[in-house]
Amino acid sequence: MTACIFCQIADGREPSSNVYEDEICLAFMDIQPVNPGHVLVIPKVHSNDLSDLPPQIGAHLFQVAQRIALSLPATNLKNEGFDLFLAHGAAAGQDVFHVHIHVIPRYKEDGFGFTFGPNYENLPERTELDGNAAQIKKRLSNQIT
Ligand code: AMP
Ligand code: ZN
Repeated sequence: MTACIFCQIADGREPSSNVYEDEICLAFMDIQPVNPGHVLVIPKVHSNDLSDLPPQIGAHLFQVAQRIALSLPATNLKNEGFDLFLAHGAAAGQDVFHVHIHVIPRYKEDGFGFTFGPNYENLPERTELDGNAAQIKKRLSNQIT
């Protein structure tokens, strides 16, 4: 018996309000929506986060999230735009450790948004951006086969 709430939802052992399902993923309403129409897209097979998610399943989750998001303007749900959001790790705001993409309808002055640190207004020098890019680029080229 798994204690993972999203595995339980995927197995039908916990209630959910589903919007889409196929053999790979399930999409259902967030129980505590940021705005009405907030949907979560999850893989049916458990992955904690992106580090153990097979990339082809990640690609499928994104496709489904894209389709759900693009369906919002045709609904009666208030939306002027949307956010697709995925938190990886507790420091990034991940609370449920079964990977999921949030589809969040957005509208002006809905009260939701990111908060920025005190240094956000100070743009870094180009040399710093280049140095950071080089670090990521190096690891990326080792990773992509
Ligand atoms: P995160 O902080 O990115 O891990 O998001 C977890 C999300 O899961 C939150 O938005 C919660 O409201 C949502 N959530 C937690 N439990 C349930 C549940 N039983 N059914 C639907 N959504 C849930
Ligand atoms: Zn799970």
